Amino acid sequence: ERERLSRLKNTPAVTLDGQKIELLANIEQPEDAVGALKAGAVGVGLFRSEFLFMGRDGKLPDEEEQYQAYRRAAEGMQGLPVTIRTVDVGADKPLDRTARAGDDHLNPALGLRAIRWSLAEPAMFLVQLRAILRAAAHGSVNLLIPMLAHAGEIRQTLALVNKAREQLDARGVVFGPLRLGAMIEVPAAALTVPLFLRHFDFLSIGTNDLIQYTLAIDRADESVSHLYDPVHPAVLQLIANTIAQCQALNKGVSVCGEMAGDVAMTRLLLGLGLRSFSMHPSQILAVKQQILRCDTTRLQAWAQSVLIADDPAALMTD
Ligand code: PEP
Ligand code: MG
Repeated sequence: ERERLSRLKNTPAVTLDGQKIELLANIEQPEDAVGALKAGAVGVGLFRSEFLFMGRDGKLPDEEEQYQAYRRAAEGMQGLPVTIRTVDVGADKPLDRTARAGDDHLNPALGLRAIRWSLAEPAMFLVQLRAILRAAAHGSVNLLIPMLAHAGEIRQTLALVNKAREQLDARGVVFGPLRLGAMIEVPAAALTVPLFLRHFDFLSIGTNDLIQYTLAIDRADESVSHLYDPVHPAVLQLIANTIAQCQALNKGVSVCGEMAGDVAMTRLLLGLGLRSFSMHPSQILAVKQQILRCDTTRLQAWAQSVLIADDPAALMTD
């Protein structure tokens, strides 16, 4: 089976009805670009940059170290796009520096994490933004912002991106163009997609968090893990809505949560109109195999029926 899959590496991911599907890799270190290319990824859809920041006893990587890391990722992908997500620390990914507040977090998943943390530490955020802008001179780089929920956060984030550019200009340092993307991980964001599309070039749906926040299920709490349901109608409607609104405005949209790499979800996501999937490199060939067997014209009506079903899971095996 493994061998059969590996033969698919250079096969384009195209459905039976001719829809081209983009299969991207999720990575945690610049060196993971090698594995991403090996698996046949056509880019990196999610570089979880926080892994550069973790386990360093509070000594965070400076601009030069980050720049080198992002540049290695961009060059490693040989011109294919690399989407770098700004640091996403919090409950599930503690950073030594935040540990001072860690013990008294009432609910870390609802607290100071991801973009909230970056906006609370603007000096550090600017270091990261400058490093990413500089790396963008060496490849095709997209900037992705995690966990946005509010127009005010969007405004502050974009102001800091501009400030980082001005700082580099003032220093006479070379930097490249960035496409700007927002993660849709909070129901509030999924319900206000047009607001996001006014400011961003593309969206990426982080289903791991979107499920957690929609269903009020802490993704790190095993005592409620049986209630963590990717096909709950509320979750599916938020995903469907986000995809449809991006398509209507001709903006890119992908899914980069675990759902994108789950072969049991491939048909449903295709049926909801998704054409870009980002996943762990080890899943790419299996998902591609599913895609090659699919006819999206047949999946659309079925996906709509799953959206409003009492028991969507029962329909998933049809
Ligand atoms: C997600 O929430 O789906 C996601 C991709 O981000 P992370 O898993 O890193 O929180
Ligand atoms: Mg997330």
